[in-house]
Amino acid sequence: MTELTDHVSSLRSTELPAYVYDLRALRAHVAAVRHALPDRVEVYYAAKANPEPEILAALAPYVDGYEVSSGGELAHVAKAVPGRPLAFGGPGKTPDEVTAALERGVERFHVESAYLLRVLAESARRVTPGRRVAVLPRVNLPVPEGSLEGSSLAMGGRPAPFGMDPGQAREVVAALTDGTYPQLELRGVHAHLASGLEAARQLRVAEAVVLWATSLGVPLAEVNVGGGMGVDYADPERRFDWAAYGEGLARLTDTHPGLTLRIEPGRALTAYCGWYVTEVLDVKRSHGEEFAVVRGGTHHLRTPAAKGHDQPCSVLAVDDWPHPWPRPAAAGERVTLVGQLCTPKDVLARRVPAPGLRAGDRVLFSLAGAYAWNISHHDFLMHPRPGLHFLDA
Ligand SMILES: *Cc1c(COP(=O)(O)O)cnc(C)c1O
Repeated sequence: MTELTDHVSSLRSTELPAYVYDLRALRAHVAAVRHALPDRVEVYYAAKANPEPEILAALAPYVDGYEVSSGGELAHVAKAVPGRPLAFGGPGKTPDEVTAALERGVERFHVESAYLLRVLAESARRVTPGRRVAVLPRVNLPVPEGSLEGSSLAMGGRPAPFGMDPGQAREVVAALTDGTYPQLELRGVHAHLASGLEAARQLRVAEAVVLWATSLGVPLAEVNVGGGMGVDYADPERRFDWAAYGEGLARLTDTHPGLTLRIEPGRALTAYCGWYVTEVLDVKRSHGEEFAVVRGGTHHLRTPAAKGHDQPCSVLAVDDWPHPWPRPAAAGERVTLVGQLCTPKDVLARRVPAPGLRAGDRVLFSLAGAYAWNISHHDFLMHPRPGLHFLDA
């Protein structure tokens, strides 16, 4: 048995559902990602993918900093990993959030509009007089033909509330270089155009962003080409090709000496280290299809409902049945796994091969380390919250 299944077996029924995070696996994975990337590529972890303090701390030796997108994330990450570089971005900042970021000494601001640049400039004049604040305008660039195919969420190259059209971004670049805002420094350019891309497409996007940035004709120290490295929920063994991506980025840094590239992945760093584990409460047949109802559901693991996929899972058979009443079991080969919510949307995985699945058997949903617990609607129906367990903390 692995450490994971050992741990899951050791939990009492009343301790389920639970999230189990394998921090050793996380460290090994992120160390390998770091190793695949050239030196002149920095990695900032996008905290919104999974901001658990234990996760943020486990990542610390392998990442250069953290990308935060709200005042809440800013305060939380600054507390969890004190002193680490932060980049502050995201649309819709309040003046108070901008001020708080300046007071905390945030290293970089990803600016999403000309208006936000103005707010930042005014706040910087008050909060950090005499200091120049580093700014990276976020550009919503038309991306190379075909490179967004297969992307699950496209933020760029189409109308979006994120970043600025190239023309607007050029105006912001001009305002940052013509003396309009002496308290701000144009450090570089930021883009985050899509998520769910495989390495070759992700590279074409990075090349397009660097090409656009260098076409501005102003000195830039950094280009942040964003996150969005793909995670394949239908085929968990098929991983983002970090080696190929690293080689491509190395070619890009070689042709642009003096330029630091930055990526800000979230999902592809933490998805693989988390499991949502639970047990089957009931097995029933409905109009020819078998359903297993598990403790918990999409109010804890919204990912399959949000992304419209089947969450990959495996069954841990439990032979012990402590109750005096008969044990429900599936008669057929395939079972649809649902949660306890009174809505047909509460489906975790459809028609998974689970012959003979019984009440009391445990189910381990994998790829639950990113956009899982923290994006879910926890209070809907008021079921108890899962415990959070960290292996090798
Ligand atoms: C969400 C987000 C990321 C991370 O995206 P992943 O798909 O998790 O890699 C990076 N940058 C920005 C600006 C984001 O909004």
